[in-house]
Amino acid sequence: MKQFLIIVFTIYSITSFSQTDSRIYDIINSVSVNRIEQDISKLANFGTRHTLSDTLSETRGIGAARRWIKSEFEKTSNSCNDCLEVFFQKNLVKKGDNNRIINDVWVVNVVAIQRGTKYPNRFIIMSGDIDSRVSDPNNFTSDSPGANDNASGMAGTLEVARVLSKYKFENSVVYLGLSGEEQGLYGGKGFANYAIEQGWEIIGVLNNDMIGNIKGVDGVISNRDFRIFSEPVPPTETEKERKSRRFYGGEVDGISRQLARYTYKTTKTYMPEMNPMMIYRLDRFGRGGHHRPFNDVGFAGIRIMEAHENYTQQHQDIRDEKGIEYGDKLKFVNFKYAAKLTAVNAITMASLAWSPPAPTQVGIGGIVEASAKLKWDKISDAKGYKIYWRDTTSPTWDYSRFVGDVTEFTLDGIVIDNFFFGVSSIGKNGHESVVVFPNIIMR
Ligand SMILES: [Zn+2]
Repeated sequence: MKQFLIIVFTIYSITSFSQTDSRIYDIINSVSVNRIEQDISKLANFGTRHTLSDTLSETRGIGAARRWIKSEFEKTSNSCNDCLEVFFQKNLVKKGDNNRIINDVWVVNVVAIQRGTKYPNRFIIMSGDIDSRVSDPNNFTSDSPGANDNASGMAGTLEVARVLSKYKFENSVVYLGLSGEEQGLYGGKGFANYAIEQGWEIIGVLNNDMIGNIKGVDGVISNRDFRIFSEPVPPTETEKERKSRRFYGGEVDGISRQLARYTYKTTKTYMPEMNPMMIYRLDRFGRGGHHRPFNDVGFAGIRIMEAHENYTQQHQDIRDEKGIEYGDKLKFVNFKYAAKLTAVNAITMASLAWSPPAPTQVGIGGIVEASAKLKWDKISDAKGYKIYWRDTTSPTWDYSRFVGDVTEFTLDGIVIDNFFFGVSSIGKNGHESVVVFPNIIMR
């Protein structure tokens, strides 16, 4: 009888903790629409934030904008007992590096780090962009409010810093303002190199670029839909890994895709009113964003953005033409929607920052058997592991089994050929790592 009660209690605690941590709801409720509106307005009112614009003025240009962003992070830090390390990270880009760099320019990013209590060298990063542009990418003087592209993502990042700095996390959290996006993704490239130099272990990058537009150029309006872009597999994979995929799978299971699925699931669990759309591609067709330089060097990274874009309000000179109001103006931004996508980031960041490391080695076997065997390395901090599987055509991890504190398990009756599999670790607090696709074949 006593044993029975213990078993019931264990099962109860697993399900309740892994589904609902009430702090996650507190985080959603703490995101302020007003502060996001104020910050987007402030950023749009720097006149232009073009990467090559004025850096000396206190009111206009990218210099004023980045100093203000830094001061906001410092304010946040002051109210959490100096919990953030705030600094500029910069790289000199020389004239002619590409045809959008018409002068030598310091590409300056603004960084705020909230150090993890247990894993200070493991980082989850949220980014937005500081810079803006008009029709001519090299016009660095005309008014370029960039209210949606990308004051919205920057304001979201400032707000997540305010909200999450009230908590302590096992892993480090980085709030990042990147520059040079419109000139060729220079800020992201510089920062990805900085992370490599520092020897950072990156859990993932959530890049936010345009999170405030709800009315598409085609007239479709939705304040619920949003997109999560992720590339299928890292460009850094080896020839051996590429060949192996042909026989063992993994074409749609790279590390960025797992991060996308994690974001999707966290949203569905805690914000079911939202409609996340996983897009199985690096970015929009032929276009770029600041998650890419992180992907380029082998880090997991995704782009979070609105679902319905309006092209007359992106990269446009401010003007009226044939009855159309062109330009990325403040009045077109929906602040409530930007706050919703900000909350999506905040809860994904918090869940990851509270979770133990994922297993690094996951083996799989079961050729010509009516069962699938999985084996993984032990994570000292995990209370157990979850095996996931899904139909080969499914985008999401639809089946799962918590298997406790073991490092191998056989799923009887599950034929390896008919599903894809993965393993995650579950922390003592119930939070869960990203799912790891098997990287070792067991024979
Ligand atoms: Zn842009």
